[in-house]
Amino acid sequence: MAEWDVANRPDGAGELPEAVVQRLRAGELWHALLLIGERTQTVRAVRWLAQALLCSAPAAEAPCGRCRSCAQFAAGSHPDFWTSGEEGLRAGDVEALQSWLATKGHGARKVYALLGVDEMTPVAANRLLKTLEEPAPETYALLTATSRQKVISTLRSRSFTCLLSAAPPFTSTDPASMSVVGRLSSAEDPSFAGFMERVIEWTETWLRGGASPWELAASWQSLAKDIPAEDGLLLLAEWLRELMRVRAGAQADRFAAWQEAARRIAPILEVEQYAACVQVVMDARLRLQSHVALLLNLEQMCVRLREVTTSW
Ligand SMILES: [Zn+2]
Repeated sequence: MAEWDVANRPDGAGELPEAVVQRLRAGELWHALLLIGERTQTVRAVRWLAQALLCSAPAAEAPCGRCRSCAQFAAGSHPDFWTSGEEGLRAGDVEALQSWLATKGHGARKVYALLGVDEMTPVAANRLLKTLEEPAPETYALLTATSRQKVISTLRSRSFTCLLSAAPPFTSTDPASMSVVGRLSSAEDPSFAGFMERVIEWTETWLRGGASPWELAASWQSLAKDIPAEDGLLLLAEWLRELMRVRAGAQADRFAAWQEAARRIAPILEVEQYAACVQVVMDARLRLQSHVALLLNLEQMCVRLREVTTSW
């Protein structure tokens, strides 16, 4: 299985937020963890966590890589580790898991991994709920998904969600965006003067729920009236990307001059929500070419932005 080969590297801990590693070290890991991120990344994290949970060394040193348990794990033959989902998750997989959980373990702990719970069938997801609701002692569930939105809410509410932060595309490499952001920050273009301050104010009004989507659309149209609509939306998308980057704990980058505002605003949403908002803005920018009236387009954009901020 190529996927597991790619994942079979010792750096799984590096994928995980420090808080998760600390809880593991303290022997206080949640019984069900939902890891959100790219597939290879979440699989690496799952392998590392599973090996650490099953390792016979003290929690502070696990996975030691030397004990019998670690050797069995590395060989892919650990009897207390069960995984499924390389080729989708169906109800039969959950039934197989439940049978495995009902058998007596070889050691003190059991760990199971279900890969891609955002792609599992509704029947399978409902079967799994029962297992998550009544966790057996010393049994750990490691679930993975590429999209948190697509995981059914009842599964989300029964597990601790952990975003693997390197997943979203933090920096656009689109030449158009680099040129527009460059013009903004060099301040050579007088039409951009004061623009970012107005964008920051607009962003805060939106994120703090201070205006309806229709008011937001009208105020965006008026604040960006001196620059091409395309450039305005590109800047908004890049600004949201910056907030996403700061939210994930990185330093301010392209908008370094406004980093104080970025630090103030960034905690309002989750990294994944910022990623979704960037997409909404870029979709609106694409629609500019379709001759939809500008204000109508902006209204659609603001309605969708509001959905992202309120429905997660
Ligand atoms: Zn070990």
